[in-house]
Amino acid sequence: MRVGKPIKALPQPLCDDCGEKAVLSRASDEAYPYHDDHGPVWICVACQAWIGVHSRSTRNVPLGRLANAALRDAKGRLHDALEPLVAGKMRRDSVNAFEARAKAIRWVATELGFDPLPVTIHALTLDECERALRYIDAYMAARRAPSGNDQNQT
Ligand SMILES: [Zn+2]
Repeated sequence: MRVGKPIKALPQPLCDDCGEKAVLSRASDEAYPYHDDHGPVWICVACQAWIGVHSRSTRNVPLGRLANAALRDAKGRLHDALEPLVAGKMRRDSVNAFEARAKAIRWVATELGFDPLPVTIHALTLDECERALRYIDAYMAARRAPSGNDQNQT
C-alpha cells in the first residue's frame, strides 16, 4: 500500500537551452521522441531536447543533461571515436564495455581538465564533446604516426 507514503521529489532536470523543467515522457505519450519504446525520457518538447533514465532507476533519474539534436549528434560521434580505445581497454584490463567506456570518458575529461569530471558521456556539454573529439583525433593521429619506436607497447 502506498497510502500516506511521502513521494520523493523527482530529480526533474532542466533544459539547457531554455531553462524550462523537462517533463517525463513514456512511449505512449504524444511527446515521446522515439517510434519504439526506449524507456522513459525527460524531454523539453519546445527544444526537442531529451535524455533517457537509468534503466534500473525507480525514480527516473536522468542519465545526464538534456540533449538537443546537435548534442545528440556530437555524443554519437564521440561514442564512435572512443570505441577503438574502449575495445583496447577491454582486452588489456579485461573489463566490460560499460566500465571501459566510463574509463575512456574519464581519461579524455582528465586530459582536458573538465570540472566536474563526467561519469558518462551523457554528462558532457556540446562544447566538451567537440573538444573531446578534437583531442581523440589528435591522439589517434599521433599513435598512427611513425615514431621510430616499434616496440609494440600495449
Ligand atoms: Zn528547452
